[in-house]
Order: sequence, then C-alpha cells, then structure tokens
Amino acid sequence: MPTRVAIVGGGPAGLTLARILQRHGLEAAVFEREDSPDARTQGGSLDLHPRSGQRALDLAGLTEGFRALARPEGEAVTIVDPSGTVLLRRTPRRPGGRPEIDRSALRALLLDSLTDGTVRWGVRIGDPEALLTEGFDLVVGADGARSAVRRVLNGVEPDRLHTVAELGIPDADRTHPELAALVGPGSLWGLGSNQNLNAKREGGGRIRVTCWPGDLGGATPGKRGLIARYSQWSPRLTALIEAADDEPVWRELHTTPVGMRWTRHPSITLVGDAAHLMPPVGEGANQAMLDAALLALAVVEHEADPSAAIAAYEDEMFRRTKPVALESRWIQSLFLSPTAARDTVDLFRLRPLGVVRALISRRRVARASRYHPTGSGLPSS
Ligand SMILES: Cc1cc2nc3c(=O)[nH]c(=O)nc-3n(C[C@H](O)[C@H](O)[C@H](O)COP(=O)(O)OP(=O)(O)OC[C@H]3O[C@@H](n4cnc5c(N)ncnc54)[C@H](O)[C@@H]3O)c2cc1C
Repeated sequence: MPTRVAIVGGGPAGLTLARILQRHGLEAAVFEREDSPDARTQGGSLDLHPRSGQRALDLAGLTEGFRALARPEGEAVTIVDPSGTVLLRRTPRRPGGRPEIDRSALRALLLDSLTDGTVRWGVRIGDPEALLTEGFDLVVGADGARSAVRRVLNGVEPDRLHTVAELGIPDADRTHPELAALVGPGSLWGLGSNQNLNAKREGGGRIRVTCWPGDLGGATPGKRGLIARYSQWSPRLTALIEAADDEPVWRELHTTPVGMRWTRHPSITLVGDAAHLMPPVGEGANQAMLDAALLALAVVEHEADPSAAIAAYEDEMFRRTKPVALESRWIQSLFLSPTAARDTVDLFRLRPLGVVRALISRRRVARASRYHPTGSGLPSS
C-alpha cells in the first residue's frame, strides 16, 4: 500500500510537501491550527533562491505561477550606516536570480494547487503519535519554531536569539515618497553597532520596517520609546519608524542548535523550522521548502516503506542544513557586531566571487559568536 502522509503545519514546508506528494498520486493531509487561510496576516516577503526555494517550486510544478507573482526588482539592496551615508547600493545585474514573493502570495499559490479538503483548518495537533493510530503511515512535523512533533523526537526547545520590533508604512510611494526613494525597489539595511534597522518592500506598496534595537532588558517600548533607542541615528533613518501607521509589534526570535539531530523514528520526521530553526537571514523558508521537496521525492521512491524514505531524507537533510545554519549564525552575529556596516559591505562585495563560504572558517565563527547573546549552538571546537 502507498504511504499515507499526515503533515502537521500548513506553512511553506507543509504545503510544498503536500503538493509534491499529490502530484505523484500519493495521499497527504495537512493539519493546520489556524482556523482559515486568512486567520492572520502572513508576515513579510521572502526571497526564493534558485537551488532551494525555486527548485522546490519547480518540483511542485509551480514555477510559472511563482514568476507571475514574484518581484525580481525586490533583490536590490542598499546599506547605510547610522549617519545615513550610503555604503553600498546593489541592483542585481541579472534580475530574476532571487526574486521576492509575499508570504501571503506564496501561501495562496500552494493552497490553490492542492486538492480540495487537503488542509484541515483549525486542528492543533498535540499528540502527533496519535496520527499513526488513525491510519497514517508517516507523520511529518512541518509545525515551525515551537514544533509539537519535535518534542516527540528530541524534546529540544529553541533558544531565544533576539527581540525585534515590526512596523509598516502603507502605500509608501504616495504617502512618503522620500522614504520610498531611500529604500529603493528592494530593501535598505541600516547597520550600527549592535543595533540595526531593515526596511523592505512588500507587494501593494507597503514597506515593512524591522528594528533590532539591541538589549532592551525585557522592555517592549512603543514607537516613541523605540525611536529613542536610535538616538544616535540620523533622523532620515528614524523617519522610517516615525512614518509607520501602527505601534511596533514585538516578536521573539529563536534558534535551535546548529546541527541538531534526533534518534531516528521509523514513522515520524521533521521539515523546515521544526528541523532546523535558523536566524532570519534569508535561508529558513528556502531550506524548509527544499526539505519538503526532497522528503516528498524520497517517499515517492520508497513508496511502501516510510522508514526507508525517512532515512534517505534525513541523511541528506542533516548534511545539507548544518553548514547553512552555521553560516546563518555567522551572518546574524556579523549584522549585530560593532563593525557590522563594514563587515556586511565586505560580505556583499565578496559574495559574487564565491569567496564567502570559504571565509567562514571556524575561527571567524567563534570570533563572531562573541556578539551572539547566548552563544549556544555554535561548535565548541
Ligand atoms: C522576521 C523574519 C524574517 C524572515 N525572513 C526570511 C527570508 O527572507 N527568507 C527566508 O527564506 N526565510 C525567512 N524567515 C524564515 C521563514 O519564515 C521560516 O524559515 C519559514 O516560514 C519556515 O517554514 P515552515 O513551513 O517550516 O514553518 P512555519 O512557516 O512556521 O509554518 C508552520 C505552520 O505550522 C502551524 N502549526 C504550528 N504548530 C502546530 C500544531 N501543533 N498543529 C497544527 N499546526 C501547527 C503554524 O500555524 C504554521 O502555519 C524569516 C523569519 C522571520 C521570523
């Protein structure tokens, strides 16, 4: 009998997995705790990379749909220091390499591709093992940062990384043209010493502003208090906070240890943030979708043997994601280091030469980890 797959979580990973399984004629059900596709706003935009997120969409047969929704110009990036001096402005030479797509658009694309009734909305899974007694042969935890399925496999709870504040400027080209011009068609990074600020375009003319204000000692101030945290910064930059139409929404970011594993289970596995929660520097959704695609192909290949599919998938996934998680930690540490602006400009200049990965020696990671608040998850030697 072909494997029946229960997927816990309807984020990018869970929906990609369901779609590719269904494309191959396999049965998949997605259990999602949110009550409906519109239960909450989905958050900002994602850049999908050719070898991971885009590859997964290709295996899902959704490349054309993705191209219709993606914003290639969103790749453009500007880096400024706290005085507002532009250190780097990069417009991609070949637009289309890592285009941006709004999360809501990506979710709709994936949902529309599934057969009716695939997603069971409003179902929070508390006991993933119970799904195995309900006729499913394979349970996949695609349930994100605070995964209930992970608890069954290794009990690891993620470490707190940072607290960030999010705000938004609606219809920015019309309401604040000078700020819209500063941000450009993609994103703007303001990098200070242990503090930064990111402004990023979304579809519909909105600019999402994410602030990393440094250690707040547990406080979550309103807009005025947040601006006060950036008192050393140019008013041209804090104007991005000022122009927002809402009060900051505070969000705790977490990570799991680099190279996290679990004892293999014959019928349960994890994909995406449940398997490897990384700092948000542009890899999480991409790796999540690639996990999902490769697990789907392994299930198709080992159609009646879920444990063989899990073994094939996990071996590759652990090997692939550990260096990505390490690099993400390093980039995150660098963004919040005292020399963030200079180091990040170097990073951008070197990346096209393919040198960056070579630079990430253990020594540099260890040095950067000094700026990481918990230091956990980094290799000890
Ligand atoms: C501020 C920020 C910016 C980011 N920017 C980027 C970026 O630019 N590029 C990038 O690649 N990544 C980015 N990421 C990371 C990216 O958002 C995640 O890696 C990605 O969403 C992971 O997908 P997922 O499907 O594994 O999990 P999620 O997207 O978290 O989806 C999990 C789903 O499971 C559901 N769920 C949870 N528990 C249960 C349960 N018990 N029962 C049923 N359902 C459940 C949730 O409701 C949710 O719908 C960013 C993250 C943050 C926080």
